[in-house]
Amino acid sequence: MIKQEIPKKLLFIGGAFQEAASYKTLYSPHSGKAIAEVAVGTREDMQRAIAHAEKAAKTMAKLPAHKRAAILQTVSALLQERKEEAARILTQEAAKPISMARAEIGRTIETYQFAADEARRLHGETIPMDASAMGENRIAYTVRQPVGIVGAITPFNFPFNLVAHKLGPAFAAGNPVILKPADQTPLSAFFIAELFAEAGLPEGALQVVTGRGSEVGDEMVCDERVKVITFTGSPSVGKTIRQKAGLKRVVLELGSNSGLIIDEGFDIEPIIKRTVTGAFSFMGQVCISLQRIYVHRSLYDHFLEKFVVETERLRIGDPADETTDISALISKGDTERIQEWVEEAKALGARVLTGGTEGHVVKPTVIVDAAPHARVSCQETFAPVVVISPFDTFDEAIEAVNDSTYGLQAGVYTNDMEHAFEAAECLEVGGVMINDFPTFRVDQMPYGGVKESGIGREGIKYATEEMTELKLVCFNRNK
Ligand code: NAP
Repeated sequence: MIKQEIPKKLLFIGGAFQEAASYKTLYSPHSGKAIAEVAVGTREDMQRAIAHAEKAAKTMAKLPAHKRAAILQTVSALLQERKEEAARILTQEAAKPISMARAEIGRTIETYQFAADEARRLHGETIPMDASAMGENRIAYTVRQPVGIVGAITPFNFPFNLVAHKLGPAFAAGNPVILKPADQTPLSAFFIAELFAEAGLPEGALQVVTGRGSEVGDEMVCDERVKVITFTGSPSVGKTIRQKAGLKRVVLELGSNSGLIIDEGFDIEPIIKRTVTGAFSFMGQVCISLQRIYVHRSLYDHFLEKFVVETERLRIGDPADETTDISALISKGDTERIQEWVEEAKALGARVLTGGTEGHVVKPTVIVDAAPHARVSCQETFAPVVVISPFDTFDEAIEAVNDSTYGLQAGVYTNDMEHAFEAAECLEVGGVMINDFPTFRVDQMPYGGVKESGIGREGIKYATEEMTELKLVCFNRNK
């Protein structure tokens, strides 16, 4: 049999693709076939990348706003031209069903446009110095200056758009970036690096160093020349990074077990499909995936019946097929982990209304009567598993959503204005969606969590601020 050639992906350091000391075979989570040989960077490779980034920081800081905006705009346009190719990469490396992969690329195109807009409007403000007697005859204003080297560490689940949420603001603000993509999704990172090179980004302003997170990621986190670490991933890694980062700024976008309340009297028919999408989109491997649904007892049985019917309509298959909704989880280990969690929930008294496994695939699973301390309830499943529970009073539902170590987003469907205001005020999360699921996000809105869901906000404008230093300039006109 002829051995099929697979691409070899080198490190991207100092504006050039460079050989690494060793390579790792990347396998498709769906087919198990080898899809690439990927460079395994070392601590020394990261050191070289940081040295190049130091030089690029000076070039980037001098690049005027219109040129930064033009580069970002060009990348957006290039991605638009090559969007199908990009979507296929996602399907291959992450097993993202092709319709969802296309949706992610559409969002990424827009995210880079928002970043181009932000580069043009980044500004400071004038300060009314004479509001203090001591400030009379002084003119002062602030400017936002680039912070310096940005270290970006990204997860596997949205490898194009979540990378854009780091590169876009960093370049809008005039910073260089070293990107350490997730082990399972490096191909998208190399692809976007090529687009930035083609768009004219200065040499060394974007470098991609693949390799073990605990090695190359750690090297970046501990180096004092790196000024910001922007991390999206699991809370456990986020905590380690925070402990090691010293005085550098750290933005952490972490996990969640997002909750939704469906209030008394709400018409459930129109929201069944949407709630099923919220729970099972990309097999639940979404940080704001709908994991816990609290339904008013008067609607509970009817909701369960409809929800299960809609869930069972989801099609399992090859992620490259147009009609596939559900495919393999990112790794075999994750499939085994979630099976164990479901078994634990059952042992604690839960019932599984639909679910199970089919080969590598975890079927969309609906659980009721789950104990609050079962892991499917209180930890992040990051799998197609949803827990549905009834409630009697609205306060009880709010308390149940808040009974979590996480707090990223929450949703409430209600016809009662007072309940909507109460939810907006009392839910302990970074974003409250009234009359929508918690899984809603557009890329310009502030996005981030409280509690173990993270620190800081993304959304281009907000992330750009995190990647600048605010400097005050004061003119003394007193003689
Ligand atoms: P992960 O295991 O935490 O990995 C994320 C990144 O951190 C990867 O690039 C990983 O590299 C790297 N890493 C691992 N150990 C490290 C260390 N000691 N120092 C520095 N970097 C290290 O997360 P994941 O499984 O890819 O993604 C799933 C998680 O991301 C979920 O918890 C999800 O909720 C969260 N997430 C949050 C958001 C949000 O915006 N809040 C969005 C998407 C996902 P390796 O792959 O090489 O280990």
